[in-house]
Amino acid sequence: MSARDVVVIGGGVVGISCARWLQRDGHRVRVVDPQAPGQGCSFGNAGVFAVDSIIPEATPHALWDVPRMLLSSTSPLRLVWRDLPRLSPWFARFALQARPARVRASTASLAGLCAEAMAGYREITEGSAAASLMRHTGWAHVFERAETAAGARHEMDERARHGWGVRWLDGAELHERIPGLRHDVAAAVELPDIWMCVDPARFVERLAADVVAAGGQVEQARVTGLRPKTGGIDVQTAGGAIHADHVVVAAGVDSEGLASGLGDRLGLTAERGYHAMLESGEGGPPMPIMSGEHKFVTSPMANGVRLAGTAEFARADRAADPRRVRILLDRGRNLFPGLRTESHATWMGCRSTTPDSLPVIGRSAAAPAVTYACGHQHLGLTLAGITGRLVADDLAGREPRVDMRPLRPNRFRIFST
Ligand SMILES: Cc1cc2nc3c(=O)[nH]c(=O)nc-3n(C[C@H](O)[C@H](O)[C@H](O)COP(=O)(O)OP(=O)(O)OC[C@H]3O[C@@H](n4cnc5c(N)ncnc54)[C@H](O)[C@@H]3O)c2cc1C
Repeated sequence: MSARDVVVIGGGVVGISCARWLQRDGHRVRVVDPQAPGQGCSFGNAGVFAVDSIIPEATPHALWDVPRMLLSSTSPLRLVWRDLPRLSPWFARFALQARPARVRASTASLAGLCAEAMAGYREITEGSAAASLMRHTGWAHVFERAETAAGARHEMDERARHGWGVRWLDGAELHERIPGLRHDVAAAVELPDIWMCVDPARFVERLAADVVAAGGQVEQARVTGLRPKTGGIDVQTAGGAIHADHVVVAAGVDSEGLASGLGDRLGLTAERGYHAMLESGEGGPPMPIMSGEHKFVTSPMANGVRLAGTAEFARADRAADPRRVRILLDRGRNLFPGLRTESHATWMGCRSTTPDSLPVIGRSAAAPAVTYACGHQHLGLTLAGITGRLVADDLAGREPRVDMRPLRPNRFRIFST
C-alpha cells in the first residue's frame, strides 16, 4: 500500500481518530479545523463509551411518545417550530425508520459497530496520555417510576442478548452502588462493562498531540469547498488550496454542506444537546447515570459533575436556549439532592444525526478520493475509534470488520443504490 497525502476535515474525536488510524498505515496526515481540536460537539459530551446503546432512536414506541414530549416545555425533546419546514423531510425519513424491520436492521448494524468500539480505541490509545482519561466505571440507568422501568425491560434484554452485562439493582444494593441518589427511585439497572472518559475535550487534545508527535499536522483553517481533480483533490480554504491524494470529511454536522458541494446527500440534521458543568463533584455519582424518564446523564468528570442531555431539533446556528440548562440543573438536583449546582459552566453543541441513527462512513459517490466519517449522533465518542479503523481499512483495501453497506453515504437519497 502506498503512503498518501490525506487531509482530514474536522478535529473532533472522529476526525482525530481517523488521523491516528491513517498514520498507522504510514499516510501523511493533515487535520484542518477552524477551531482547536475537540472544541466542537466532542467538547461537551457525557463521556460514556456507551457500547450497549444499540437501539436506534426511531422506534414505534418513540413515534408514539414524540407528540406528547413536544407539547411539554420541560421534556428532553424540543423542536424549534419555526425550523419545522426545513426539518420535515428529515422527520419523514425518521418516521420511516421506525418500521420494525428497519429497527431490527439498524440495531444489528449498531450492535456490530459497538462490539468493535473499544478494540477500535486500543491501538490508538496504547502509550498515549489520552488513555489515562479512560476509566472502567460501568454506568447505570435509573427509573423514578416502576412503569418506566418495566417499559425499559425489553431494551435491556436486547442489550443482554448482544452480550453486554445487565444487572437490575434493588433497594439496599441500589443505594450502595449509587450513593447520593434520591431514596424513592423505583429501580436501576447497571451495565458494568461500560467505560467512561473523564474529560472528553482533553481526550481529543491528547490524541491530537499524538497526531503531531507522529509527524502529522493539525492546523486551524475552515474548509470552504472540495474540488476533485485527476489524481487527487483540492481542499479549498481561505488561505488557499491544499492538494491531497485523499480527503476524509469528519466535520460533524457541517459535513452535509461540504458533501452537497460534491453532489452527495448524507441525511444529517443538527440534534442539539446541552450541558451544565458543575464545579463541585460533591453529591455526584461514582459512575455516569442516565435518567430513564428525563434522558440526561449525570457524569462524574475529572473536574466536577456534568449534567448532559437534551435533543433539540433546530438550525445549528440558532442561539442556545438557557432554559434547557435550567431544566438539566433542576432534574439533576432532583435525582441527586446533594449536588452543588451554584457554580457551573454551560454549553450547547450539535450532534450530527441521521434518521436511522447509523453513522455515515464510506466513499463519496461523486468523488472516490473523498471518504465521509460523520453522523455519529449520541455515539460519536463511543464509535470514533472503530470509525477511524474502518476508514483506514477502506483506504488500504482491507476487509472491513463490519458490514459497511448500511453506513453508506447517499442512503437517504431517493433512488440511491
Ligand atoms: C449533550 C451531549 C452528550 C453526549 N454524550 C455522549 C456520550 O456520552 N457518549 C458518546 O459516545 N457520544 C456522546 N455525544 C455525542 C458525541 O459528542 C458526538 O457524536 C461526537 O462528539 C461527534 O464527534 P465529531 O468529531 O463527529 O464532531 P465534532 O466534535 O463536532 O467535530 C467536528 C469538527 O469539524 C469542524 N468543522 C466543521 N466545519 C468545518 C469546515 N468547513 N472545515 C474544517 N473543519 C470544520 C468543527 O470545527 C469541529 O471541530 C453527546 C453529545 C451531546 C450533545
